Amino acid sequence: MGVNGKVRVAVNGYGTIGKRVADAVNLQKDMCVVGVTKTKPDFEAKMAVRKGYDLYAAIPERAELFDKAGVKIKGTVDDLLSKADVVVDCSPGKVGAENKAKYEKAGVKAIFQGGEKASVAEVSFNALSCYDRALGKNFVRVVSCNTTGLTRVLYLIKENFGIKKVRATMIRRVVDPKEDKKGLVNGIMPNPITLPSHHGPDVQTVLDVDITTVAFKVPTTLMHVHSLNIVPEKDVKAEDVIEIFEEEPRILLFSEEDGFTSTAKIIEWAREVRNRYDIFENCVWRDSVSVVDGEIYLTQAIHQEAIVVPENVDAIRAVFELKSREESMEITNKSLGIGELQI
Ligand code: NAD
Repeated sequence: MGVNGKVRVAVNGYGTIGKRVADAVNLQKDMCVVGVTKTKPDFEAKMAVRKGYDLYAAIPERAELFDKAGVKIKGTVDDLLSKADVVVDCSPGKVGAENKAKYEKAGVKAIFQGGEKASVAEVSFNALSCYDRALGKNFVRVVSCNTTGLTRVLYLIKENFGIKKVRATMIRRVVDPKEDKKGLVNGIMPNPITLPSHHGPDVQTVLDVDITTVAFKVPTTLMHVHSLNIVPEKDVKAEDVIEIFEEEPRILLFSEEDGFTSTAKIIEWAREVRNRYDIFENCVWRDSVSVVDGEIYLTQAIHQEAIVVPENVDAIRAVFELKSREESMEITNKSLGIGELQI
């Protein structure tokens, strides 16, 4: 398979998630990026070429636009698919489902993102909770940023203490920093107003747990915040929960005494230690982890642009059955510096 035994990965949609997945894949020894696609020759397309990625037109009819703008492309998405073993579809939500027929025709495996319905793939994916379910599959969906953040902590708590019931409130960044066409200037939007938000049912695609979620959008672009209330099956102390989080690299614990008083401070830390200030881990406030009347409470922040990136890399290893869950997660973690607070 592939070039020098490496899995050949195409990235269809070099946007917020696509550019991060491409860079993460290129850091792995067992896979490489054979090309990325853009719909138009904008600055992101130019930067992809500058970084050394082979660029292809995502929409074949628009190939001419790239020529006119003097941006060199190697062909269209169909040409790219003919050189790939797997495509990571990072197109906007619901567009992945439209792209699926192309992937089937080209005979490549595909990893979809959380903006797609679960039915786009054979299985939904989170590395911790259900890596093995994706082994050998052709179509896998990595769940969304909020679902990934919820699933990691709930999986660990369920494995160690059992879970009777979860109630979670999601305070969501309204848009990503680059999005200048939509937003919420001055308000708090229950989204949706009716219960439950889609996050609870989405968690249930990757973890068997009783969960109800409520969600709000707020005028910030930095991170989401989750407030969780978990009723465990066993008696548990806050220290026990902190201990299992300390052992999992994909969870980082942030302390108020270190000055981490808000998402703004967590991002300020990430600006110093991470490329693009990408935080691949859940950011749990250590001081928020509490047990009151036998129920666990915790607050965490999720960097929506980055958290699903390691899961995409692990999903590629799973569909080709390259490594076990533990091996893949360890390799991905090391390559991306996951689990290192560096303060
Ligand atoms: P984005 O808008 O930043 O990037 C999407 C890219 O796909 C753009 O470059 C766009 O030009 C391109 N594109 C448009 N039509 C296309 C087509 N027909 N074929 C191929 N490419 C096309 O979006 P994003 O934030 O990177 O989101 C991508 C997916 O990841 C969505 O499913 C989204 O729900 C999911 N996701 C996003 C976030 C986030 O916070 N940004 C987090 C987790 C998951």
